[in-house]
Amino acid sequence: MKVLKFGGTSVGSPERMKALPKLIVNDEPKIVVLSAMSGTTNNLVEIASLLYAKKQKEAAMAIKNLEEKYAKVIDELFSTQDYKKKATTALKERFDQLKSFSAGEFSVKEERVILAQGELMSTMLENLYLNETGVKSVLLPALNFMRKDQRDEPDMYFIREILTRELEKNPDCKLFITQGYVCRNFKGEIDNLKRGGSDYSASIIGAAIKAEEVQIWTDIDGFHNNDPRMVEKTHSIAHLSFDEASELAYFGAKILHPNCVIPVQEANIPLWIKNTMDPKAFGTLISSSTDEGSIKAVAAKDNITAIKVKSGRMIMAYGFLRQIFEIFEDYSTPIDMITTSEVAVSLTIDDTTNLEKIVAELKNFGTVEVDKDMTIISIVGNKISESKGATAKILGALSDMPIRMISFGGSRYNVSLLVESTYKKAALEALNSKLF
Ligand code: ASP
Ligand code: MG
Repeated sequence: MKVLKFGGTSVGSPERMKALPKLIVNDEPKIVVLSAMSGTTNNLVEIASLLYAKKQKEAAMAIKNLEEKYAKVIDELFSTQDYKKKATTALKERFDQLKSFSAGEFSVKEERVILAQGELMSTMLENLYLNETGVKSVLLPALNFMRKDQRDEPDMYFIREILTRELEKNPDCKLFITQGYVCRNFKGEIDNLKRGGSDYSASIIGAAIKAEEVQIWTDIDGFHNNDPRMVEKTHSIAHLSFDEASELAYFGAKILHPNCVIPVQEANIPLWIKNTMDPKAFGTLISSSTDEGSIKAVAAKDNITAIKVKSGRMIMAYGFLRQIFEIFEDYSTPIDMITTSEVAVSLTIDDTTNLEKIVAELKNFGTVEVDKDMTIISIVGNKISESKGATAKILGALSDMPIRMISFGGSRYNVSLLVESTYKKAALEALNSKLF
């Protein structure tokens, strides 16, 4: 069995929905994971924020606009009255649910129900379309099997048990359609795997059923060696190891949800990135093997805040770093990069929700400097920190710009540098011409 995930643009219009069967209808048994139609989750986020703000009228208006958009999709997608009616009835259920929140108390619990509607709609439409054209497919409701545990991690035991049971109910079926992104939390409430989470869904499903492989279908031909939106000449990378792909996904390559690699890596299942627009292109194969010692790619992560704590108390002291880190832990704020000297520690965060409170507490330890609008530039490759000359090349390429932090040797696959965001483009271009 294979697991194939298609993102929002792959189901973004009736034309794209009609083109999808060419990629998924054949003799290979598979589970197809779909995102919401592109734009829909953003619309749902907007509706939820209007409801938070008690702007009932505006929310009702936004819901109505979305409903009209979907009515048009139904009209163009289906050719028979019978299926138009089936889809309209199913869609009405979704919109009735959306409208039910227009009045009264609104909390994160209701918001999550709203955010789940996009995937419920796209999968329902695609599945009905397949059935209308005579393809036998079965819709697997992700809300029945996809569950997170108390630590917010996928509950693999539960997922495996329920999913296996669901698949066994349809022994002759070759094509299952399910929702990405949506899940339930340990309380059984509707929840999600965070924005872009459909990739993660596919990977979790792949690991749960021990799939032959997981394919992430997107609108680019795999991981590129640099950001194609910032730099002119980039190429797609044929092979990456799980570790390299994780570093790239985490440090800014927008192509994959950062958690997506974990489940398939644990289960050692090959992960492919494929291009919907160019299905014959090789794409990127992510697996446990990799090419020996080479620089593979550069990625950038924006909106980074650097914090420096300088304190004489750090000299020869123990427990200092623990106390500093505890403050970040207390405010559930992850740290990305860290560098230390004998009298100072610099670190970076990207979630600044609690920045003021964190800084106030850090001031008990010494002087605190905060630099906003920074960018982490990550250079990823196999054993990059051990390969001769790699670091010299990297730093040589960036000799014209001030570097605020360097993180080297933390992982064998990554060297990270922090620069002001105004230098980002220049840094990516310089690295592109000097490294590849
Ligand atoms: N629809 C969700 C989002 O837009 C999940 C996904 O597309 O992966 O974030
Ligand atoms: Mg995505």
